Amino acid sequence: MAKTPFQYQCWDLPSKQPPVASRLYSLKPEGIGTPFVESLTGYISRLAEAHSVTTGTLVLRELLPKVRRTRGAFAGQLPPAARQPWIFLGAHIINGLCECPREWVKVVQNLTGHSDLQLLTALPWAGLLDQVGMLRTNLAWCPSCFEDQLTSGSVIHEQLLWTIKAVLVCPRHSRPLDELCPHCGRWLYPFSGNSRPGYCSRCRKWLGKQINANEVCMVEQGLAGRVWTAQAVAEMIAANVHFPNSQSLRANLRTCAVRCAHRSRRALKAVTGCDIQEWTAGNNAPRMESLLKLCRALNLSPARQFTEAIPFADQMWDFGEERIRREAPKPQGRLAPEARTIAEALERELKSDLPMSAEQIAEQFGYRSDARLRQLQPDLCARLTQKRRAPSAKRTSADQVRRALEAGVAQNPPPSLQTVATSLGLRGCTRLYRRFPELCRALVAKNRGFTQLPPASVAKTLKKALTESPPPALDVVARRVGFRQARSLWRRFPDLMQALKSRGIEARGSNNTNPVSPKPSSRVPPQAEALFRAALLEEPAPPLRLVVSRIPKHHNTSLRQAFPELWKLIRVRYQQQKKAALSERRRLLFQTVQEIVSELSSRGIRPTQTLVRLTVRQRSEDSLLSLDMIGEAIREAITAIST
Ligand SMILES: [Zn+2]
Ligand SMILES: [Zn+2]
Repeated sequence: MAKTPFQYQCWDLPSKQPPVASRLYSLKPEGIGTPFVESLTGYISRLAEAHSVTTGTLVLRELLPKVRRTRGAFAGQLPPAARQPWIFLGAHIINGLCECPREWVKVVQNLTGHSDLQLLTALPWAGLLDQVGMLRTNLAWCPSCFEDQLTSGSVIHEQLLWTIKAVLVCPRHSRPLDELCPHCGRWLYPFSGNSRPGYCSRCRKWLGKQINANEVCMVEQGLAGRVWTAQAVAEMIAANVHFPNSQSLRANLRTCAVRCAHRSRRALKAVTGCDIQEWTAGNNAPRMESLLKLCRALNLSPARQFTEAIPFADQMWDFGEERIRREAPKPQGRLAPEARTIAEALERELKSDLPMSAEQIAEQFGYRSDARLRQLQPDLCARLTQKRRAPSAKRTSADQVRRALEAGVAQNPPPSLQTVATSLGLRGCTRLYRRFPELCRALVAKNRGFTQLPPASVAKTLKKALTESPPPALDVVARRVGFRQARSLWRRFPDLMQALKSRGIEARGSNNTNPVSPKPSSRVPPQAEALFRAALLEEPAPPLRLVVSRIPKHHNTSLRQAFPELWKLIRVRYQQQKKAALSERRRLLFQTVQEIVSELSSRGIRPTQTLVRLTVRQRSEDSLLSLDMIGEAIREAITAIST
């Protein structure tokens, strides 16, 4: 029986070439094409571990002698054969994007046979980003990621993401990156002779840590922003396999300038803090931090900016456009309220019986003059002026003024000139003086005659005061003869006033030195203490001046000396009450101003100081508000709205 030949199974061998022989193990880089790709320094450490040597040995014996110098007089040459352990001091740039990492990538690729090791560095961003401040100069890591790698049995590796300075949290675990060894408490070099992924290069202990539930739930201020940044950088790293290019970035920045900065470059700069013009012109590449700031402010994806030209109509720009429109500060110059709003105000006045002038309306819109109103609404302004000039409009005619002044002069006692002016709706007396100087002078003279005594009786009163004991104060005497202050009397009766003054000084001097004068305590009225104590219970707290005035025949100094404690208590109580009242007034004012400012802003009117001040005066019942206080409230309200 002939044996049938055995049929062997036919294998379909892949047409792939057998791997190229390499001097070092052809270790597969971890995570290429994902956000969690390993760093070149981490890869070198792993390579050393695979060969059972330290990172220092591999680098100094095998790699460094092949890395050409990139800077200085010996650029392009190989380094001398001597060991150079200091190479580790600035070794963070091996993961960067300058010529140095390019050399390292070339050497490691030659030794391992891999051709995509530039993806383990920031080299894909060369020409797109500025290297300054991009990389950390110390090692950072996510202990949870290390722990996950260990427990899942995957290769333990350091991520390129952790080398980027802007990344402060792990996007996978939303927890801050560690920068100090939990065992020895020291900073670690990003790359050193003892580097080994997952272990401290100083104390050689494991850096991974189980996720602590409390730690993850910990709501940290600004965490959302940090997670956004970390995720954006992670996306950028993942997109590196899609060949980021500077043409796409520049085209996108130009689109951004048109879509988001159409109002002004300044508006975009104010909101994002970035000057996009510098980048679109190609003068400077943006720093990673600045680009992230821009993208975060406008909610753009940095990874998309790098890899594709985003169309002008793409909805990615919508958010940024809206945000700039909403938040950009208004131009510093006067923002014209819409012509329509002005027209409405003018029409309203045209309908009223007592129309305001165009100037007054302009003031309400925050203008200093009516020029802008006349420019925007010339017809309406002309009609308003005409209406105000028409005889039907109620205005003070010369006749009315004359009659009022004549009536004032005829009255006994006559009103003051200011009272007459106010009754005619005038603020001051200047116009009255200009039109009817005679009548005004007559009124003032008559007024003086009523309030002041004739010189002879003034002299008589002064002489009488000289005989009084104790002599009255000079101001008191002045008031007796119808003057507000003694100053006016000095001009007319210098001798008498001098005599009065000397007598006053004499009397006070003798009082102080006279040993016979009663002791202060003996000059304290018996009911003083009771009155003081009652005042302490009074609500609202009375001022000390008032309390003292209630005590008959009192003497301030003796009272103060007799009851120093009560004196102080009454004064402090009144001061505290005054302080509380003031702060309440301030609170009310700030509230009113805040309301006015937000109301004006919502109507599209710029809340100028003048405009808000006018409205406050109309609305607030507090008539004693100082300009400083209002100004302060307005500034605070505007700042609050703009932030
Ligand atoms: Zn993590
Ligand atoms: Zn340590």
